[in-house]
Amino acid sequence: MRAYNFCAGPAALPEAVLQQAQAELVNYHGKGLSVMEMSHRSADYVAIAEQAEQDLRDLLAIPSNYKVLFLQGGASQQFAMIPMNLLRGKSSADYVNTGMWSDKAIKEAKKFCQVNVVASDESNHFRAVPAFESWQLNSDAAYLHYTPNETIHGVQYDFIPEVDVPLVADFSSIILAEPLDVSKFGLIYAGAQKNIGPAGLVVVIVREDLLGDVLKGTPTMLDYKIHADNASMYNTPSTYAWYLSGLVFKWLKAEGGLSAMAEVNRRKAAKLYAAIDASEFYANPVAKPNRSMMNVPFTLANPALDKVFLKEAEANGLLNLAGHRSVGGMRASIYNAVPEAAVDTLVSFMTDFAKRHG
Ligand code: PMP
Repeated sequence: MRAYNFCAGPAALPEAVLQQAQAELVNYHGKGLSVMEMSHRSADYVAIAEQAEQDLRDLLAIPSNYKVLFLQGGASQQFAMIPMNLLRGKSSADYVNTGMWSDKAIKEAKKFCQVNVVASDESNHFRAVPAFESWQLNSDAAYLHYTPNETIHGVQYDFIPEVDVPLVADFSSIILAEPLDVSKFGLIYAGAQKNIGPAGLVVVIVREDLLGDVLKGTPTMLDYKIHADNASMYNTPSTYAWYLSGLVFKWLKAEGGLSAMAEVNRRKAAKLYAAIDASEFYANPVAKPNRSMMNVPFTLANPALDKVFLKEAEANGLLNLAGHRSVGGMRASIYNAVPEAAVDTLVSFMTDFAKRHG
C-alpha cells in the first residue's frame, strides 16, 4: 500500500509510471538490457530521448524556434548559466525577488553582472507578488528573471510580466501544472524532481536566437549552444531520468494534457485552502491572488503541536508535510502526481486533528 507523498522535491511520481518502469526495468521491450545500461548513442536510447522531447513539445505547444535541453546540475546551475549565456555583451540584468529561490538566483547572477532588483517582497516576508506597476524596469537589461512559483513560501504569480527584454523564468515547481504560452519567454528552466520526473535532470526551453554569445571563459559544459547543437548529448546525459520523464509526459498526455491537469490542480488547491481558511486552527499567510497551486504552506495555531501533527499524519499514510527548514510550519506540495484523493484524505485528517487538539 503506497502512502500519499506531499514532498516538495524529489516529489511523488505517478504510480502508473513507476509500474511501467518496473515492468521495463530489467529487459526493456525485449532488447535484453535495461534502459540504464544502454549507450546514450544507441538507436534504442535516442528514440526514447527524442520521443520524450516530442511529447514535452506537444504538451506545452513549444514553438519550433525553441530548443529543448535535458541537462544536469539542477535548477541551481541555471542560476549561473543564465547570466553566462544571456548577458550577450550587456552588463546588467533585472531580477524580481519573491522568495528564497529568486534570492538565490540573484546572488549567483551578481557574480557575473550588475543585478538590478526591480521589485522585492522581502519587507513583507514574501507573502505576495509586488504589483507589476511598481517594478523599476531597465530598458538596457540583458533580460528579466523571475520565479513564477516560490516553492518554499508558496507564492505564485497571477500574471506573466510583459517586458521588452527576454523574459527568463524558473518554472521548477510549477511547470506542466497548467498550459503555458512559451512564446512569451526567452528561456524557461525547471528542475525535474517536482513535476517532471526524478532528480538529476533540469529541462531548459530556450529561444534559438539567444544562443551562441557566451561570456568569455564560459566552460563548454555551461554553454547552451553546445548542448543544443548536440541534442543534449555533448556528454553522457542523465539517461534514466530522461527516460522516466518521458514516461511522465506520456502519462500527462493520457490524462488529457495540461488543461485537464490544471482543472484537477485548481480543485485540489481550492479544497486545501478552503480547509485552512475555514479553521481557526490553521493559517496560510499568502495574499489570496498569489497563493500557490502547487505548494501550500500552513501553520498550526499552536506550534508546539507541529511534531504531533507530523507524527500522526505519517501514521495515517500522509508523508513529508514538514515545511522547509528555513520557514518551519507545514507545507503540502500537491504536484500533478499527487492524486485528488490524497488532498481529500489530508483535509479529513486536518479537520479531525483540529477537532481533537483545537
Ligand atoms: N528553484 C526552485 C523554484 C526550486 O524549488 C528549487 C528546488 N527546490 C530550485 C530552484 C533548486 O533546484 P535544484 O535542487 O534542482 O538545484
